[in-house]
Amino acid sequence: MRPKQFKAESKKLLDMMINSIYTHKEIFLRELISNASDAMDKLYYRSLSDGISGLSRNDLKIKIDIDKDARILKITDNGCGMTQQELEQNLGTIAKSGSLEFKKENEKQEDVDIIGQFGVGFYSAFMVSDCVTVESRAYLSDEAWRWSSKGAEGYTVEPCEKESHGTVITLHIKDDTADEDYSVYLETYTISSIVKKYSDYIRYPIEMDVQTKKLKEGSEDEYEDVTETRVLNSMVPIWKKNKSEITPEEYKSFYMDKFFDYEDPAKVIHSKVEGNVTYSALLYIPSHTPFDYYSKEYEKGLQLYSSGVMIMEKCSDLLPDYYSFVKGLVDSEDLSLNISREMLQHDMQLKVIAKSLEKKIKSELLKLLKDDRETYEKFYSAFGTQLKYGVYEGYGANKDALKDLLMFVSSNEKKQTTLAEYVSRMKEDQSDIYYACGESVDKIDMLPQTELLKDKGYEILYMTENVDEFAIKMLMDFDGKKFKNICTDSLDISTQEEKDKLREKNENAKDVLDTMKEALDGAVNAVRFTDKLKNHPVCLTSEGELSVEMEKVLNSLPNSNAVKASLVLEINENHAICEKLLQLYGTDKEKLKDYAKILYAQARLVEGLPIENPTELSSLICELMV
Ligand code: ADP
Repeated sequence: MRPKQFKAESKKLLDMMINSIYTHKEIFLRELISNASDAMDKLYYRSLSDGISGLSRNDLKIKIDIDKDARILKITDNGCGMTQQELEQNLGTIAKSGSLEFKKENEKQEDVDIIGQFGVGFYSAFMVSDCVTVESRAYLSDEAWRWSSKGAEGYTVEPCEKESHGTVITLHIKDDTADEDYSVYLETYTISSIVKKYSDYIRYPIEMDVQTKKLKEGSEDEYEDVTETRVLNSMVPIWKKNKSEITPEEYKSFYMDKFFDYEDPAKVIHSKVEGNVTYSALLYIPSHTPFDYYSKEYEKGLQLYSSGVMIMEKCSDLLPDYYSFVKGLVDSEDLSLNISREMLQHDMQLKVIAKSLEKKIKSELLKLLKDDRETYEKFYSAFGTQLKYGVYEGYGANKDALKDLLMFVSSNEKKQTTLAEYVSRMKEDQSDIYYACGESVDKIDMLPQTELLKDKGYEILYMTENVDEFAIKMLMDFDGKKFKNICTDSLDISTQEEKDKLREKNENAKDVLDTMKEALDGAVNAVRFTDKLKNHPVCLTSEGELSVEMEKVLNSLPNSNAVKASLVLEINENHAICEKLLQLYGTDKEKLKDYAKILYAQARLVEGLPIENPTELSSLICELMV
């Protein structure tokens, strides 16, 4: 029989597996056991929902057999099995191409358990075997099929004999090489410790025959070889154990296995709640952003169990959107097993659980912030954006829940700071929280508007993400302190005397400033002198609700109607250019107009805005030069 070719994607993955990108080859066993367990879950679930009788959960089990001489390792389950078509579909194709692209991008990270992240686990069998055979019979089907492959050149599928439903996976273990001892996978000791390490919580017995010595009957010192069938796993789900019985490694290994991550979680939350609704929850906060997190493909949700049996893979009602990064599971005996999914969505008990989880997540994040700043900052750099969207969405409905978790870079030391920390450092005479927006911390730091404030010892929060200012506008204030955009709002940093002086100066120069405004032909709403600049001659500010940064963000969205911030050209009253302008008004009005255009262009440049007419600007400057 000529082998069929693997689909292109699968072939690449297989190559990767055969050439072993993993350092931890032993995880192949975890993957196969996990598949077997899933297959039994599926069968059990189907039996409940279809009301099939005669199937008992107690009959479901996984068996591992070793034949050292033949170099065979066999994993047998009596789960749902696969039809001929399913065998071809599941083992001949891997449609999840995301994994390959991800792998390409992360080629350098060698010890990274990427494959697991995408559920292409079956192929990991090729890391340790040179031939893999899968014999399977689907439940209620009377035919069985054998899928077989020696690796990249393809696979065959043919009918075979199999007595009952389920799947047998037969691995022919590779010969040892100079670098790798594959024979260990034929040792009962190694296999049982791998099972213990990765699959202890699997809720079906994993059995293996083990050779031991036993005292001969009637004898006191004579032993005989006997074969004993042992159950290798404890079957207690980790979340049902007491916290004190679980090592950090166990939590971690469970997380990596179940939720396909290759990095330690930032935080593990294990809680048992008794009361109105009784449940246990095991939640994980990842320490990095999943590759698809900010895409449509990402689905939030927690696994839902009813007394240890999974009834839903991703229950999205258990998590608010702003905590969509949380992974984990909830197990409650108060949820009925055969509840239909629609009904589940409206279940009061779920709502109660969701509310209590939300509180728990928040308090754990605050604890992390307090006790382990470094890890919190790492978490925040991965998911802070999501929290900020959470503040903005729903017209700020959740802002109170989230405001304490926010951080921004501050002009002090250019480090992340919380709003509470900022407020605690505010100067005595300071009534507002100052912030500025821009593309990057460095760029904001160079804005002329920041100079004088920093000089006077005020701290400024630097907002570099599109969502930032929208979230801030939604918050409105923190601890009674209003947020002030230093590029927009009038800041209260000068004395009454200074204010009066400036107002007078502006009033006296009204004609000069109006002439300049006219020269700019509608580009700005006003031109005025300001005392908020130190060395720089000009800056551009905006009046009203819409800031220059918000204008940029809104106009960059697809299908947006162009919006325009209402701009003010502000000129440093203490800069020599000020005198020059006043003087030009009396001597050369045309030149004053040219100056207005140049100053306006300069202000736009500083703000990072495009120049509307670069040619005109260029000739104006040149004229001045010659
Ligand atoms: P994943 O398990 O993440 O989906 P795999 O490559 O490990 O990816 O398996 C592909 C598919 O093959 C599974 O989703 C499942 O439908 C099927 N499969 C694998 N092993 C078994 C098994 N022992 N019994 C039934 N179906 C299986």
